[in-house]
Amino acid sequence: MKYELMFQCNLPNGIHARPASHLEKKCRLFSCQVMLTNHRTNKSGDAKSALELIGTDTIHKDNCTISCEGSDAKYAFEILKIYINNEFPLCDEPLKAITEEKQIYLPKSLINYCPTLIHGKSLVSGIVKGRLVKFGSVTLHSYATDFREQEEERFTNAHNTVVKNIKHELCLATGPEADILTSHLSMVTDHNLIAGITHRLTHNSTANAIIATIDEYISKFNGASSEYLRARTLDLQDLGLQLLSAAYPQHHQEDSTLTEDSIVIAHEMTPSQFLKIDKTHFKGLVLAKASHTSHTIILAKSFNIPTLVCGELQDKHDYGHQLAYMDSQLGIIAINPNEGTTRYFERAIKISKQRVYSEQIYIGKQIATLDGHTIEVGANITHPIEVQATLNAGADGVGLFRTEMAYMDRDQAPTEDELYECYRDALINGGGNSIIFRTIDIGGDKPLAYLNLPTENNPFLGYRAVRIYPKFLTLFHCQLRALLRASVHGKSRIMFPMINSIEEIRWVKSQLEEVKYQLTHEGIPFSEHIEIGIMVEIPSTVFILDHICQEVDFLSIGSNDMTQYLLAIDRDNQSISYLYSSLVPSFLRMLKQVVSTAHQYNCWVGLCGELGSDHRALPLLLGSGLDELSMSTPAILATKARLANMNYQQCRALFLRACQCATRREIETMLDKTQLDTNDKPIIASECIFLDAEYASKEEAIQALVGNLGITGRTNNSHALENDLWAREAVFSTDLGFGFAIPHTKSEHLQHSTISMARLAKPIHWQGDTGEIDFIIMLTLNNNDSAQHMKIFSSLARKLMHKDFREKLHATQNNQEIAEQLAAALA
Ligand code: PEP
Ligand code: MG
Repeated sequence: MKYELMFQCNLPNGIHARPASHLEKKCRLFSCQVMLTNHRTNKSGDAKSALELIGTDTIHKDNCTISCEGSDAKYAFEILKIYINNEFPLCDEPLKAITEEKQIYLPKSLINYCPTLIHGKSLVSGIVKGRLVKFGSVTLHSYATDFREQEEERFTNAHNTVVKNIKHELCLATGPEADILTSHLSMVTDHNLIAGITHRLTHNSTANAIIATIDEYISKFNGASSEYLRARTLDLQDLGLQLLSAAYPQHHQEDSTLTEDSIVIAHEMTPSQFLKIDKTHFKGLVLAKASHTSHTIILAKSFNIPTLVCGELQDKHDYGHQLAYMDSQLGIIAINPNEGTTRYFERAIKISKQRVYSEQIYIGKQIATLDGHTIEVGANITHPIEVQATLNAGADGVGLFRTEMAYMDRDQAPTEDELYECYRDALINGGGNSIIFRTIDIGGDKPLAYLNLPTENNPFLGYRAVRIYPKFLTLFHCQLRALLRASVHGKSRIMFPMINSIEEIRWVKSQLEEVKYQLTHEGIPFSEHIEIGIMVEIPSTVFILDHICQEVDFLSIGSNDMTQYLLAIDRDNQSISYLYSSLVPSFLRMLKQVVSTAHQYNCWVGLCGELGSDHRALPLLLGSGLDELSMSTPAILATKARLANMNYQQCRALFLRACQCATRREIETMLDKTQLDTNDKPIIASECIFLDAEYASKEEAIQALVGNLGITGRTNNSHALENDLWAREAVFSTDLGFGFAIPHTKSEHLQHSTISMARLAKPIHWQGDTGEIDFIIMLTLNNNDSAQHMKIFSSLARKLMHKDFREKLHATQNNQEIAEQLAAALA
């Protein structure tokens, strides 16, 4: 007997993938046949198949019937009646937008041009221009082949792999992502889909069978009434590609060649995919999924590729190949920029280059703070060619050479000679500066296909780094031999990752001795006094550090893993990234203990995680007494410039106070409130005066003058300072008449009060219907000088009333003279 249930679809987006997988799961509980018929489209489908349900093209308010026929049809009917009325209408919550934790402030000198902006979260800072290029947009048809060999086995294995992968991702996912994965899982396990493919396998290759079956569903979905349902074809393509790439792992998957400067867009990117992309035109990266400490992002920092996390661009076809600017610090991508937006970004790029240029005095110099305390600033690198570049960019040496990168993106491990050449080149390029080579840290988020490491539930807590060496002893010895052979070419140090106990240290040391013994017997030279050290990145080491210091020559704190293990917060999990912070009392106390124990035993101690380049944390890191900070190359000069303007004793006191704080908030507030940059700069200086300046608008003038305060080290937060200036402009016009404008503010975002000046090549419009101006005198005073603010402003305004003073300012031909005239006027 047949039982029929009529209902109207109340789902706002119809029966698309997620509701279909919900309903399908419910229907599978019964052995009877369950069909859904849509009376508007006259399409019926097996309700135990998510794909067939989607194929009924059911949208909001469509009248439908569910019919049950077979042994338990009555029971199914009763259960489904309750389900359809109560649960089904609630199974499709709208996808929640990812909300930013912090509100990002955008400069008015940009938004006044009304650019088209896409917002994201910054992972690697920088400003770049390029065409938007989608990565991984491989078509299903690129896999087509007539070659056949054990096709059923090939498909079954591929299918199992994809199902396993989705289930694995599902374990880690929450919210909308989990919903999407659930629907993908039900699509890929759909018996009609599987039957469609396996049926074709009798005469076709796996590739052609998958392509034909997916194409069939895609054309069905393409005819759907709602845009929302049509968009589901992307899910099918995604699954098709996953099946194909699992079935044909050797297939060339992405074309990584870029022919012009590009901002690459991808859902996700593994370290090896990143490495494959030609870096000549690779200017920026936009990922839907990535976290601050993932190894792909570490690589992006190393190669200085500004990176954003933003899920909006990946599925939009209309953005492909458009010209865009990206400012990852502000978390924005400006698409198809208009003239004003282009001027803004071109100037922003110029300002950021000048800033780097102004910091170049620190290249080749070891940094001393204002009170004479020295600290080394090293580089984190992955390739020998980076050595020369990083020394040229200001590094004192290499604090972390992640050697595992040379093992990735290939089918087998490098040979001893290849490794030797790599390390030798690095040491020769290092020209006597110390290079710390970390032995391979494989596993975790850096699997190597050719090692066949098992898939693990907790890869970061599992078979990783030093833990795999005993099993892959030949691989480990091969690296040690190469490192020792190369050691004669420079100042080389060897560091072991993920050390957890004295036993492990003694074991790696015994292996090193064995390799030394072999080399001695073979008559191969190596440096006898090569220093060895360990990464301090597992909390247990902190409690036995006294013993450790007696076994090794140096230590380097791996703050990425140390934070993850100390706080039990996965460094790669975006849903808990708001909890991942090293600026917490427990981490600072750990740091204090490590540095003091190390120094008690005369052991050199550095820090090489991402924390090293966190400017906010810098006073605390300096105050902790660390001997070295190691970071990605682009951060080095700015860090040195800041350290040179800090006072160690003040930072020490701040660090000790921070260690006494009870909460993260207290530490952050303390850092925000403390003014540590005490190197005085004069309020009027020729470095802040511009004659014949080419500014096309008020926006550009303010952007340029504030940007210069950043370049000259007078502000650490140009955007916030600019915001303060615009806030005052909004209240009243600063056009003083006679062609003069005096924009002004007092701001907490300024380290050194400054009077900047610009005499313009061509006049510009300033505000409202007032006339044009060709002279700007900008007053920016920090909070300590706030009493001076109105005094300077009014005496300047009075002075400008005098024609002869104005004429003098117009006639003077050099910066120094103008500075003197202004100083005299204000004296
Ligand atoms: C760290 O853990 O801080 C570190 C530098 O090592 P990696 O990021 O390579 O794990
Ligand atoms: Mg680590």
